[in-house]
Amino acid sequence: MLQGTRHAEFIALSQIMSKYPLSVLHETDLYVTVEPCIMCASALRQFGIRSVYFGCANDRFGGAGGVMSINQDRSVDPPYPVYGGLFREESIMLLRRYYVQENKKAPEPKQKKNRELKTEILPINVKNAGMPIEVATPVLGTRVATATPAAPDTPVG
Ligand SMILES: [Zn+2]
Repeated sequence: MLQGTRHAEFIALSQIMSKYPLSVLHETDLYVTVEPCIMCASALRQFGIRSVYFGCANDRFGGAGGVMSINQDRSVDPPYPVYGGLFREESIMLLRRYYVQENKKAPEPKQKKNRELKTEILPINVKNAGMPIEVATPVLGTRVATATPAAPDTPVG
């Protein structure tokens, strides 16, 4: 069921749930490069993730403060805290390096040979200023799930 989508968060959830009971998510912190999208932020809440740490905000589809705050809006499921801005510049550059690549598996690959890797990092957008960027100290002995960026043939979101 969870393998139907290839967002990094779903892959991480599938992997941890294949080895541990669902209840382990209540003591699991997820670390992900980009703020989870609205769909993933909702799934993480419904599955009861303890907290989420991410590198850079997702200002198009973010569900943890970038566009919506699915993690803490009113819901029947308990909210979870998010901590954004961890290695923000490194996360932005990781994505830029990814997106200047060509996708040879695409039906009609876009020609990106002339694309330049931008290196300028703008300050955090004012609209995201309310996002929590404090870094909490992880509790020792807790389980950690790491969501890695999607493979080059999949959209990130
Ligand atoms: Zn997602």
